[in-house]
Amino acid sequence: MESLIHDGTMMHEHMHMDLSRIKQDPDTCLDCHDQTLKELRQLREAGMTRILDVTNIGMGRDLDLLRRLEAESGVTIVRSTGFYKDPFIPAEWQDATAEEMAATMVRDIQEGNAAVIGEVGTSRNEWTDNEQKLFDAALLAHQATGAPIYTHTTLGTLALEQAKFLTEHGADPKKVIIGHVDLAGDLDTIRQVLDTGVTVGFDTVGKTNYLPDETRVKMLRQLEQEGRTDQIVLSMDITRRSQLADVAGPGYRYLMDGFVPMLLAAGMQEETIRQMLETNPDRILGRRQS
Ligand SMILES: [Zn+2]
Repeated sequence: MESLIHDGTMMHEHMHMDLSRIKQDPDTCLDCHDQTLKELRQLREAGMTRILDVTNIGMGRDLDLLRRLEAESGVTIVRSTGFYKDPFIPAEWQDATAEEMAATMVRDIQEGNAAVIGEVGTSRNEWTDNEQKLFDAALLAHQATGAPIYTHTTLGTLALEQAKFLTEHGADPKKVIIGHVDLAGDLDTIRQVLDTGVTVGFDTVGKTNYLPDETRVKMLRQLEQEGRTDQIVLSMDITRRSQLADVAGPGYRYLMDGFVPMLLAAGMQEETIRQMLETNPDRILGRRQS
């Protein structure tokens, strides 16, 4: 596999995150930094040279750690700004206006702390008032900075509503990624989302407790045959200690070592895999300097 991907990007990951206070589950405190560093080094050997970390304010984003992991692993880590979704919007931000939220995002981007607005999300089949304010803010910050927006859908719900809201209110569809669309397992909706011009994330690869990877492969093969893979990016969205390789999980390398071979075995063209892991991320994030 080493020769297939040289400069890949995983487009939706978390290097360090803590949702445990609200989820009441210590497994959702992802803070195994030595293990993460080890896996990042392995990723680089597998041709994955960049990660978009979509951890933001209220999720436990740690900018210094991200910079250190980048320096020590050689994997470029693109950082994010914004807020997640209810009930993870910090208490001190509950009463903020969209303009105030946007100002913080813009400042984060202008100061070089972040290059992407994300992950900004909606609840399961529900778009709360706070989450609407969050999307208003993301839109304002996107329009002020041109930074891409990466969304979170809960189990793939409201993907089309998010895409329509953002594109109908002036977001550049080429800079919008709707996340976790694979989880709904619903190709028809994914096609409608793609029709709005945005990119979609098949970004929960390996989360087989929600959806078997065989289903992801089947959907991706179908979309390849329909010529839609120029609007798809891939990732794993590792969020728990137990998903790391040395703990109990597949680890970040599974995308290259486990999932890509499944795509090839199903008949996917190598060029399509390069498109989803290299060309599309490079188009959205830009090419790194080095
Ligand atoms: Zn998410």
